Amino acid sequence: MAAQQHFDVIIIGGSYSGLSAAMALGRALRKVLVIDSGKPCNAQTPHSHNFLTRDGATPQALSRIAREEVAQYATVQFISDLAVSGSSIQEGFSIQTKTGQDFTAGKLLFATGVADQMPDIPGFADCWGISLIHCPYCHGYEVRHQKTGIIANGPIAFEFAKMILNWTSQLTLLTNGPSPLNEEEAKVLQERGVEIVETKIKAIDHNKGQVQQLVLDDGKALPFNAIYAKIPFHQHCSIPEQLGCLLTEQGLLQIDTMQQTTVPGIYASGDNTTMMRAVSAAVASGAFAGAAINRALIEADFA
Ligand SMILES: Cc1cc2nc3c(=O)[nH]c(=O)nc-3n(C[C@H](O)[C@H](O)[C@H](O)COP(=O)(O)OP(=O)(O)OC[C@H]3O[C@@H](n4cnc5c(N)ncnc54)[C@H](O)[C@@H]3O)c2cc1C
Repeated sequence: MAAQQHFDVIIIGGSYSGLSAAMALGRALRKVLVIDSGKPCNAQTPHSHNFLTRDGATPQALSRIAREEVAQYATVQFISDLAVSGSSIQEGFSIQTKTGQDFTAGKLLFATGVADQMPDIPGFADCWGISLIHCPYCHGYEVRHQKTGIIANGPIAFEFAKMILNWTSQLTLLTNGPSPLNEEEAKVLQERGVEIVETKIKAIDHNKGQVQQLVLDDGKALPFNAIYAKIPFHQHCSIPEQLGCLLTEQGLLQIDTMQQTTVPGIYASGDNTTMMRAVSAAVASGAFAGAAINRALIEADFA
């Protein structure tokens, strides 16, 4: 591909949200480049749920079908590469990639997702997405009524425990340190049969990602079929911040009602903009971002 090739839109991140935007823009006859480094956040989960028409598909199948559909639009090009830097230029923006390619576009869309930060607990990362669950809507049904742990601390712990009680009553809340619950909250949970454990977690024993037991610092082992966990994350891609895009207090890219970031001409969609982490939400916001960008390009033509 020739250096400095110009596009109407460069989409950085070609997973569910980026491909959804690419479809909207391809159908709007826009010249689009999708740059993707192939590291979606759900790669390790065996099955993806709660997305109509594809409930239970593998994440890889979802991506493959999406890519095949978008590839039918001739004005959309793809490269497998990592975008490493960007800058504002007169015609819009330029983006450089790890392999040394350089592209320009009038608009940018970051559909780059977030990167989950695994705690330093042996076994945790191996079980993530398999039997260690981030969201009950995605995987709660499959482990309903089973012996379940929740690893959570801070203000979210009480709300999360209340929520997971909807799926199972065999619940243990592991705060991995002093409990954040006040007396009233602890009483509410205990009345519903929730055990609260403050002892530090030492390790998670598992078989190919299927949790078997959680081992505490005092040597006690608690058997579980599944464990929910709330863990921190950071933006998967730092280019938006380098270009001046502001983050919210939660570490998400700040966007307006048209999916535009705080820098005019730069848009964002999917997990990097919302706590509602779901394929359906990523696809919806990507489609909307595509339409919003096309509208901005039309407005610019008439300006
Ligand atoms: C373990 C787990 C299980 C899940 N299970 C479900 C489920 O069952 N059902 C459901 O609805 N949701 C599920 N989710 C949530 C769902 O996976 C996300 O909401 C969805 O993947 C978000 O899509 P996205 O396109 O915004 O980001 P992602 O899918 O994370 O994709 C971001 C893409 O951007 C690329 N990228 C990032 N930076 C760059 C760069 N600099 N250059 C080029 N490319 C870049 C990445 O490589 C990646 O391909 C799960 C999430 C996790 C973590």
